[in-house]
Amino acid sequence: MRLSQILFSQGFGTRRLCAGLIYNGEVKVAGEVVDDPEAEYETEGFSFEVSGKTWPFYEKALILLNKPAGYECSQKPKHHPSVMSLLPAPLRERNVQPVGRLDEDTTGLLLLTDDGALIHKLTSPKHHVPKVYEARCKHEVTDEQVARLLAGVELREPESSTPTKPHHKPEQVRAEGAERSDSHGLRLTLIEGKYHQVKRMVAAVGNRVEGLHRPRFGALSIPDGLKPGEWIWIASPALITP
Ligand code: URA
Repeated sequence: MRLSQILFSQGFGTRRLCAGLIYNGEVKVAGEVVDDPEAEYETEGFSFEVSGKTWPFYEKALILLNKPAGYECSQKPKHHPSVMSLLPAPLRERNVQPVGRLDEDTTGLLLLTDDGALIHKLTSPKHHVPKVYEARCKHEVTDEQVARLLAGVELREPESSTPTKPHHKPEQVRAEGAERSDSHGLRLTLIEGKYHQVKRMVAAVGNRVEGLHRPRFGALSIPDGLKPGEWIWIASPALITP
């Protein structure tokens, strides 16, 4: 693929802008400046530098963000900045989207990708991708609450939403895994990702979530040293569902 086309495919702006970056000597391959936009490269395993930063070539972008509190997953956030604002321009340009959503006050592992089929696969309960949540609860977590979460609870419409159907049936959901981590701590494993699911499940058993963190998504966990607000590339979706 031509170098200008590579930059274009990776979100570095219009074809004209990409050619301009190359002509201006801002692009290096294997440590050497390449100022010919027509230079051809094999894309498999290819990486390049733009203005001193290294970019691996990926046909589809897949990244893991350590989401801090105070960011919304929506593209059009209402009260807080979007998680997209934590990403560099080429990734925003590629239109990466969160894989499911974390609430504004939830922290932890958030995947983002421009691969729509992958988003569908990872969020559909059919594919059984486990997501682990650590909830800090207002009241002491009891054995009975844990047992009820594992057996299944009724999720009602969240109070804030207007029911879409007048006689909307409450949904029955269960945790794949639930255990008390300490007196007020609960570790839950879910395979679906319904709206405010953890908060609504915990409310359904008579407790209340006061803090929520997601340390794992499928086989991935937040790498040591990746601070809130930082992100890394994930080389292949196979690492999520081995
Ligand atoms: N469940 C919730 O209630 N909130 C989240 O952010 C994720 C799961």
